[in-house]
Amino acid sequence: MTTISANLQAVNQRIVAACAQAGRAPGLVNLLAVSKTWPESAVRAAAGAGQVAFGESYVQEALPKMAALAELSLQWHFIGPLQSNKTRPVAERFDWVHSIERLKIAERLSAQRPEHLPPLNVCVEVNVSGEASKSGCTPAEVPALCRAVAALPRLRLRGLMAIPEPMSDEKSALVKRHFAAVRALQEKLVAEGLPLDTLSMGMSHDLEAAIMEGATIVRVGTAIFGERNYST
Ligand SMILES: *Cc1c(COP(=O)(O)O)cnc(C)c1O
Repeated sequence: MTTISANLQAVNQRIVAACAQAGRAPGLVNLLAVSKTWPESAVRAAAGAGQVAFGESYVQEALPKMAALAELSLQWHFIGPLQSNKTRPVAERFDWVHSIERLKIAERLSAQRPEHLPPLNVCVEVNVSGEASKSGCTPAEVPALCRAVAALPRLRLRGLMAIPEPMSDEKSALVKRHFAAVRALQEKLVAEGLPLDTLSMGMSHDLEAAIMEGATIVRVGTAIFGERNYST
């Protein structure tokens, strides 16, 4: 067994164990394998072990990788910061965007989503850790942005995404509170009538805490592929 397939198996076991602890059905939590900085060969190894959904953060890096892997019919999720001059290839090639933080970007994605494809699945990114985190909109901005995004014809608003600041173990209670805050915000939006079914939260180090608080997609890179090296 390759390292990647063994790691994938271990991560899937962590998900199953966390679901059991949370009293949730394991099928309710989907694993997104975050392949940013990793070559096509790493994605192929994970796909060979049964992984279907992959996350990328940089448009420039993702496009050639996706083209090289086109025959595998994988599902691609864009999870990084998105500039308005890069929306077109994302609208044309990705299945999901998790990092919507401005209406202008959502409007461009909707306008640029090709007619022959289903609506682009999107999540609004919320910043629940305050100033420490640079991406995502404030919880106060979320309801209005969600309503506006939900009205765009070629997008399908699925829920919220969050990246709480990584914390030491002593501060894990704070991470839990951040995840709980995202969940509470989502529940408020659902009560207001938005048909949301996705909470994208939890990464290699904190996926258990996220699953305890209702995550439906965990985004895991390091625990599957290893430590990233940004210099190459
Ligand atoms: C890189 C990245 C991840 C994966 O993080 P790991 O700690 O490697 O699991 C998850 N979400 C986002 C938005 C990322 O940019």
